[in-house]
Amino acid sequence: MKIICIGRNYAAHAEELNNPVPKEPVIFLKPDTALLPKKMPFFYPSFSKEINFEVELVIKIDRVGKSIPEKFAHKYYSELTVGIDFTARDLQQNLKEKGLPWEKAKAFDGSAPVGKFISKDKFENLNDLSFSLNANGEQKQLGNTSNMLNGIDQIIAHISQYFTLKIGDLIFTGTPKGVGPIAIGDHFECFLEEEKVMDLKVR
Ligand code: MG
Repeated sequence: MKIICIGRNYAAHAEELNNPVPKEPVIFLKPDTALLPKKMPFFYPSFSKEINFEVELVIKIDRVGKSIPEKFAHKYYSELTVGIDFTARDLQQNLKEKGLPWEKAKAFDGSAPVGKFISKDKFENLNDLSFSLNANGEQKQLGNTSNMLNGIDQIIAHISQYFTLKIGDLIFTGTPKGVGPIAIGDHFECFLEEEKVMDLKVR
């Protein structure tokens, strides 16, 4: 499986990092080794001094597809959850300045924890879903899919022009504003609407 991530999908987040709002989705990949095994803590990697959390809605693909039209995209996923796109911001800044690829900053081991998946049928409107991240009991990020620049189905249509989507692939759909640094000892809880889907400690 592969993990496909969308960057700058919320205008307010693009602005907080002084990035332009893109005309089409920004895409990057993480390998399967980025998936953090369930119940494992996140171990702060020694190569960075500035790991950031980015809470994101995550879609699980359950049907193979290529060049999927937007109007059929909803047939290719039935479960969603919330994940964290851990980012080594110091490395990313350095790589961006040199015009180099982001992988070392974004795709390292354990950089993609995901929560418990929930059937999309449980929700009335996927274009009005809230999700949030608490750090040590305090809410740090609160997003709503209504603020996405590209909605879920648009993202699937766009990605699948370039990459065949396979069963089990995960799509991280971008983070809302409020990203910030993590520290060893932090306790993160992520919510999809009211339901807690992830509990994660940093070691
Ligand atoms: Mg992200």
